[in-house]
Amino acid sequence: MAKERMLQFVSVKREMPEKRPADLRSQDFHEIYREYAAQKAAEQASRCSQCGVPYCQSHCPLHNNIPDWLRMTAEGRLQEAYEISQATNTFPEICGRICPQDRLCEGNCVIEQSGHGTVTIGSVEKYITDTAWENGWVQPVKPMVERGESVAVIGAGPGGLAAADMLRRKGYQVTVYDRYDRAGGLLTYGIPGFKLEKPIVMQRVEQLEASGVNFVMNCKVGEDLSFDAIRGQHDAVLIATGVYKMRGVGGPGSGAKGIVQALDYLTVSNRKSFGDEVEAYDNGELNAAGKRVVVIGGGDTAMDCVRTAIRQGAVSVKCLYRRDRANMPGSQRETQNAEEEGVEFVWLSAPKGFTGGASVEGVMVQKMRLGAPDATGRQSPEVIEGADYIEPADLVITALGFEPEDLPTLWGVPELAVTRWGTIKADFRTHQTSLPGVYAAGDIVRGASLVVWAIRDGREAADSIAAYLAAPASVAAE
Ligand SMILES: Cc1cc2nc3c(=O)[nH]c(=O)nc-3n(C[C@H](O)[C@H](O)[C@H](O)COP(=O)(O)OP(=O)(O)OC[C@H]3O[C@@H](n4cnc5c(N)ncnc54)[C@H](O)[C@@H]3O)c2cc1C
Ligand code: SF4
Repeated sequence: MAKERMLQFVSVKREMPEKRPADLRSQDFHEIYREYAAQKAAEQASRCSQCGVPYCQSHCPLHNNIPDWLRMTAEGRLQEAYEISQATNTFPEICGRICPQDRLCEGNCVIEQSGHGTVTIGSVEKYITDTAWENGWVQPVKPMVERGESVAVIGAGPGGLAAADMLRRKGYQVTVYDRYDRAGGLLTYGIPGFKLEKPIVMQRVEQLEASGVNFVMNCKVGEDLSFDAIRGQHDAVLIATGVYKMRGVGGPGSGAKGIVQALDYLTVSNRKSFGDEVEAYDNGELNAAGKRVVVIGGGDTAMDCVRTAIRQGAVSVKCLYRRDRANMPGSQRETQNAEEEGVEFVWLSAPKGFTGGASVEGVMVQKMRLGAPDATGRQSPEVIEGADYIEPADLVITALGFEPEDLPTLWGVPELAVTRWGTIKADFRTHQTSLPGVYAAGDIVRGASLVVWAIRDGREAADSIAAYLAAPASVAAE
């Protein structure tokens, strides 16, 4: 019934908005949607066979107790479902929306494996936590004891915020430093709003503020405040700065106007969604409206760019990737979504250079084939000679991945050990770095990864920091 009412609403809205019946006005949509979501969540939760071999749980990086909260949801015990779900996950409503579930929990659901379609675990997790927010079950943290020690968290992304939350629960005084004006890291300025609505992120930031976490925004560590000054002011430090150095594209014409980097493009689009004045968007530089857009790359960031360009009103959106569909790093679900929205994928294609003068007019495309596997076992793309062609483009967005910034140099701390990839070297269990009292979590340790892994790292690092602060001074100094 709820589904029929919702479909009726959507089709009436689309086809004849002026004739929308009184009982289907916009304010009713929320209520109809809630009814539909409740029905779907209960339906999906009751599909869980409680198989006893919860591969879903073991393939969730947070080892969420999925079978138990599915059972509670199926029985209508939503508050208990929420309690179980939030015990292991700091941001369940965020993970429910943006985890690549097909590669994690849902991809390993026994029902999926037997060919009957997975239980939609992510959407149930989202439903449970959205319900918890609506009912006031999510409350600011009130620690049992206040402790005097203070912890600095550098970076307000999911890794840093998860740690801040856990440390506050234990009663520590927490200050989060971030170079941006809003907290959330890539949750706020990377991932587009159609995947993760920004009020969902902001309500978490506000909850942390209400819990007593102190935020120092617009503070770029290494420029506005030195790393040493932060170390001097706090008893322990967590570095959770993510990875932001974008891999560029080379070849003739690669410096032309109209060739832009994915994160610049997405950040501007996200800023606009907050209602900010953004000149680069308003003057068309980072705006796809009315343009032929080519996105280069095959990961999730590329998928976010193509889907954003479609929403901005691009004339056409093509995605060039040098391998084939089966070998692309991005989620298959995201690719399918993009295709359904009108994106054209041009597989086995790589840019060789760009045409045009000061402004880009086209991409010189080399056709590729897959050759022998490389050291990682993936087939290497090889150029097919003589098959080049020009793909017309007014805006080219490059999404070729991210690398860490050189923090030891930027921050003047050569003793901060890094790996040969430039990520911070940290113990994989304790997250401690080469510096006493300094920990690291999230993408700055793993390289570009996932929100759910950053949350896990942040939570684990918080436990280690608490153990460090609780240890006798002689042990902590070791
Ligand atoms: C476009 C895009 C889409 C993505 N989509 C998904 C998705 O759908 N699902 C998913 O699971 N993952 C996705 N990811 C990956 C995910 O966003 C990251 O893995 C995750 O955000 C990493 O969290 P983090 O806390 O380590 O770092 P970040 O989220 O990057 O946060 C780091 C914070 O540190 C701050 N910072 C950096 N340097 C300094 C400094 N010197 N001083 C002060 N502050 C500093 C930054 O401003 C930032 O706020 C996506 C990534 C991108 C780029
Ligand atoms: S956190 Fe992610 S992987 Fe874990 S249950 Fe939720 S959606 Fe699945």
